[in-house]
Amino acid sequence: ERIGYAIVGLGHLALEEVIPELMACKFSRLAALVSSDEEKMEKVALQYGVKPEACYTYDNYDDLKDNDDVKVIYIILPNDMHKEFTIRGAKAGKHILCEKPMANSAAECRQMIKACKKAGVKLMIAYRIQYQPHNLKLKELIKNEQFGKVKYVEAANGQSSANPEHWRHVGAQAGGGALPDIGIYCLNTTRFLLDAEPTEVFAYKYSTPGDPLFKDTEELISWQMKFKDGIIASCMAHYKVHEVKTLRVHAEHGWMFMDKAFAYAGQQLTTARAEGEMSIQENIGLAETKQFAVEMDHFSQCILNDKESDTPGEEGLQDHIIMEAIYKSAETGKPVKIKY
Ligand code: NAD
Repeated sequence: ERIGYAIVGLGHLALEEVIPELMACKFSRLAALVSSDEEKMEKVALQYGVKPEACYTYDNYDDLKDNDDVKVIYIILPNDMHKEFTIRGAKAGKHILCEKPMANSAAECRQMIKACKKAGVKLMIAYRIQYQPHNLKLKELIKNEQFGKVKYVEAANGQSSANPEHWRHVGAQAGGGALPDIGIYCLNTTRFLLDAEPTEVFAYKYSTPGDPLFKDTEELISWQMKFKDGIIASCMAHYKVHEVKTLRVHAEHGWMFMDKAFAYAGQQLTTARAEGEMSIQENIGLAETKQFAVEMDHFSQCILNDKESDTPGEEGLQDHIIMEAIYKSAETGKPVKIKY
């Protein structure tokens, strides 16, 4: 059995990545489309064989409740729309897969979790990296203390942005700048790899004065997180640097480095082991996966077997709690403790 998905929002990610990979899924299939642009939707529907009666606008989105062919709603809209479309989707009785960042605040995340619980539907946040083979391997190396205890983590996610008109550069729509969009990969992946929560953060942010890209969002966010046993993670996200997506984990007797750590493809995992005076390097080759297909199939299997996903709403909420502490630290210039 393949679970039917309604795709909400036909932007870049939906059209370039998600819908094509949905075609390669084992347990998931495209069942409906939701868009405000009916002309575009008609073209996409024709291309992928979606019937006109399975195409919805934002206005009649709630009618999905009468479409039994749809079991999951995948929300791929600007961040400020995630909450509304999650709550309406849950009320329509559908399981929800929501893109990262989950919303624009921890308070919104709590409302989304509550609405899904009340409706008795599952909520998963699309943290594809937690299902990616090289990242899973790195987590295993850390857990098994392959190179001794981990002491320090560095994570960077940077790219060069160009269009100040895009919603990503409008604070009210994006909920912030580099942090919730790309910094969240450094944050979420570090928590995932260490299987631990930070107890304190310290942050610095910057936007070049007068740059229209950053009128009300940050260009740079740089922060440190303190974990148990004195482990520090040093992270940065930047909207004005040459592309970088790296992870480096420093351990007692070696290091682990991943290039393209957060990319759709191309991950390269290298390790180094201390052997006396020598450092023995190894490239760990692993087959790549279609990350969005794997993520959707994971959720579909959770539905088929009535299990919670590995990245439920609570996982998204946790990142928002920490991001709020990061912003508070950047604004006050002081470390901020996180209480659980
Ligand atoms: P996009 O701008 O390409 O697409 C957004 C879609 O929303 C467009 O179809 C647009 O028409 C529609 N939309 C509806 N109302 C809008 C409004 N008021 N303003 C602007 N657009 C509106 O964005 P995207 O890159 O596809 O991102 C969509 C979501 O997916 C975001 O939450 C983003 O963070 C997430 N995303 C995740 C990944 C990932 O790797 N998991 C990658 C890219 C984007």
